[in-house]
Amino acid sequence: MELSCALKEALCVVGDAQEVRHRVYALFDRALGIGKKEILLEPERELSEEEVFRLRKVLSAYAAGVPIDYIFQSAYFYGREFYVDENVLIPRFDTERSVEVILEVAKDKDAILEIGTGSGCVAVTLAKLFPGSEITATDISHEALRVAKINREKHDATNLRFLQSDLFDRIEGRYALIYSNPPYISAEDMKALDAGVYDYEPHGALYGGVDGLDFYRKIAMQAPAYLNAGGYLVFEIGHDQYDAVSGLMSAAGFEDIYGKKDYSGHDRVIVGRKKDV
Ligand code: GLN
Repeated sequence: MELSCALKEALCVVGDAQEVRHRVYALFDRALGIGKKEILLEPERELSEEEVFRLRKVLSAYAAGVPIDYIFQSAYFYGREFYVDENVLIPRFDTERSVEVILEVAKDKDAILEIGTGSGCVAVTLAKLFPGSEITATDISHEALRVAKINREKHDATNLRFLQSDLFDRIEGRYALIYSNPPYISAEDMKALDAGVYDYEPHGALYGGVDGLDFYRKIAMQAPAYLNAGGYLVFEIGHDQYDAVSGLMSAAGFEDIYGKKDYSGHDRVIVGRKKDV
């Protein structure tokens, strides 16, 4: 099949309005490694049967609404490429703010704990940024940890260990910083999620109880027992959860609480310090 015919087929599936053309080019690029320039300059280039098969597989997944990063089992986070599949959330751009906040309050050699690592994108990133630190990351899901381990190998993050644990159940010792991006979508907001998210991403990583705050309550209460004096608790939060989560953190004995905004101007990360005494 000629490239120009394949392009027509893709435009039928994705739509050929000017606004969605970039998606067609992205699908070609990620499926076949053929860029926009080649499509436009070499329309008669002949695709092999295998290439046509690969493209059609991608187009039918796309038409079914599968998020593009699951189709290619690959997503970018903080400048690194990660393996992803439907056992883990696709890393969100806003979550990069969490890494920025941790860089502000932590330093190399600090022991860091992540609760609910999913794909491991934050833990691997921290392990690479803090090569002198021992990073511990947990998840309740064995399937998620399988994905996280693939990413640890991929980036050779030798200072990162994973533990299957329900929150702090299997955690011992004390840390300089505890981070979590727990499931935080409320029952009401679950109904309003995009179809691509609701249908394909793991609900265990999204649903945070009726008011979305279950995991913040539990983690904020238990975290002080696993933090050094003056240690930090850092959370990613939903766009409207700052007041509720800062209330939970101060009730649990955290001080110097502040937030960091995402690119849409919502508080996206919250930090608190365990009292020194
Ligand atoms: N930010 C994710 C979303 O908008 C939710 C992640 C979470 O619950 N921790 O779908």
